[in-house]
Amino acid sequence: MAESTVPLTDAETDVLIAGAGPVGLVLALELARRGVAVRIVDTLPSPTTESRAIVVHSRSLDHVEMLGVLPALLDRSRVARGMAMHDGDTTVAEVSFEGIRAVHPFSAAIAQTDTESLLAERLQQLGVTVERSTALSGFDQDAEGVDAELTGADGRTRRLRARYLVGTDGARSTVRHGMGQRLEGSFAGEDFLLGDVEGEHHYDDSQFHTFFSPGTGTGLLFPLLGERVRVFAQLEPGIEPDRPVTVEWLQQALDERGIRLRIREAHWLTRVTLKHGQVPRYRDGRVFLAGDAAHIHSPAGGLGMNTGMQDATNLGWKLARAVQTGDTAGLLDSYHLERHPVAADVISFTTRLSAAGTLTNPVAQHARNVLLHLGLGIPAVAEKMVDRVEQQNVAYRHSPIVGGSGGTLKPGDYLRLDDTVVAQALARHPGHLAIRVPGRGSPEPLPTPLPDGIEELAVTERDADTLRRSAGLPHGGLVIVRPDGYVGHIAADAPAGLRDYDRLLSGVGGEETALQHAVG
Ligand SMILES: Cc1cc2nc3c(=O)[nH]c(=O)nc-3n(C[C@H](O)[C@H](O)[C@H](O)COP(=O)(O)OP(=O)(O)OC[C@H]3O[C@@H](n4cnc5c(N)ncnc54)[C@H](O)[C@@H]3O)c2cc1C
Repeated sequence: MAESTVPLTDAETDVLIAGAGPVGLVLALELARRGVAVRIVDTLPSPTTESRAIVVHSRSLDHVEMLGVLPALLDRSRVARGMAMHDGDTTVAEVSFEGIRAVHPFSAAIAQTDTESLLAERLQQLGVTVERSTALSGFDQDAEGVDAELTGADGRTRRLRARYLVGTDGARSTVRHGMGQRLEGSFAGEDFLLGDVEGEHHYDDSQFHTFFSPGTGTGLLFPLLGERVRVFAQLEPGIEPDRPVTVEWLQQALDERGIRLRIREAHWLTRVTLKHGQVPRYRDGRVFLAGDAAHIHSPAGGLGMNTGMQDATNLGWKLARAVQTGDTAGLLDSYHLERHPVAADVISFTTRLSAAGTLTNPVAQHARNVLLHLGLGIPAVAEKMVDRVEQQNVAYRHSPIVGGSGGTLKPGDYLRLDDTVVAQALARHPGHLAIRVPGRGSPEPLPTPLPDGIEELAVTERDADTLRRSAGLPHGGLVIVRPDGYVGHIAADAPAGLRDYDRLLSGVGGEETALQHAVG
């Protein structure tokens, strides 16, 4: 386990995380498995019983694998291998996830409660317990750390000093408020009826289903384990906010949207109004925001929790490095620069998805259906759509902390190889990986010893061949993989590549240069 720079007392920690939802738990795991002292507090006396987000997408599954939780998560999931779009009884388009270039070319449908309990169990194995009935109620920061005020259920307060504070405290975030930030964006709230129910239906259990519905709003159906399904019915604006949600109302809403599901039993019924919004800055000095605290959007596409979990994966290794080496300049700013555009893109995608699903003009509906049918019949178009839904399109090519050359595989891209499961290597070694790509007939070794925190990842000849072609290294070279699985650097000259990458991570050139680079 790596040491923190200065010994800590009981009233101090390296990182304080406010909020033990899925995002806070992933962040705590990312820090704890790197030996960083972490405290995680939550207002609730016990975990939520609301199943909420029910999809873990393909890219997030890789990250879950790095945390050592994947087999348990898949045990409790139904695997979804595609999606279908329906207009009444007509299936307008179907797309399969199986063609995507991913280690796990599918989604896992699992209740958020199960996802959270698996993450919390793993965290406990690493010696960290969520401190419940404990709310973060205020904070101040200075150059060296953050003074946090914690309030217990009895109203008593205590103070905790942390080097860094991360607000993963959800849509009503106290940390966001304390940073003086607001969610900004389009505030046309979308109103959904939502149910986890059991009942008969004839839809393919290995697909997610979207139902377009003129005038009444989109419907969604996600098969879960066993007989259970999650259904959403988007409501027309103006329905009285206090109307109680009943099985009868949900059944009627499903019928109106042409969803042929007979509800037998309801496990959870609720109504949710969601707005689209994002904070302008994910970082203010030593305080960060991640997950719903930083961005909220429509549940269409099931991207909310996934985007948040990936925020945590991105921030985790950077905070660990900052704690352990003191290097913070460009590295910590790169969290905002890399992750803010991802959530902005999700918001724009889900807004368009919702708008397409609720067209009322029959001519526009017909055009949409024809376009979807023809468009998604073209493999390249279908692939693009699926990459988006499965978040395989996420890359950080414009990040100031990636560098070097490249071919079709560029610095900032996520690395997937045919034989070597990079996520498994990163589960064993939570630092950087260096892949030596030998030139044909010239097996030049990597410089030894490798810098601290970098371990060599040996790949098969087939993977090396792929990298020679895709990374633009016909005569061999070096590919550095970041702890989150993205390519950090590609260089033909391995020693120079290692030096250049270290300079990038250490923020040589200053934060302003890094920011200008990213914006440019
Ligand atoms: C009804 C509903 C249905 C949803 N359905 C879907 C879906 O189908 N698909 C999808 O992708 N997303 C869905 N979402 C959104 C999804 O649940 C969120 O994106 C996800 O929970 C975000 O995780 P998080 O960890 O950022 O925040 P949260 O899960 O909200 O967790 C925040 C935690 O912080 C705690 N907290 C709050 N304030 C403080 C404080 N001051 N101090 C300490 N702790 C604090 C809270 O108790 C909570 O445990 C749904 C949300 C709701 C409400």
